[in-house]
Amino acid sequence: MVHGCFWHHHSGCKNATVPDTNTEFWMEKFARNVERDARVENELKELGWRVFVVWECELNTTSTARETGERLAGLITSNVAAD
Ligand SMILES: [Zn+2]
Repeated sequence: MVHGCFWHHHSGCKNATVPDTNTEFWMEKFARNVERDARVENELKELGWRVFVVWECELNTTSTARETGERLAGLITSNVAAD
């Protein structure tokens, strides 16, 4: 999965901002998105899929994208379950 940091509200990320207007609406929307992401990830795992999440901020630059690609390659070729 590739998640946008804003829409999926990447915890602790500087890109996971909350708009200054309609704050309550946005906070509820982000909470629903995060809850749905967790639910979908769990459902996929229960079906036997391995789930890897890449955040938008992990692809922002060539070097971070390369590091993310290497991390994913390591996970995909290992027998370690995704976290
Ligand atoms: Zn992020």
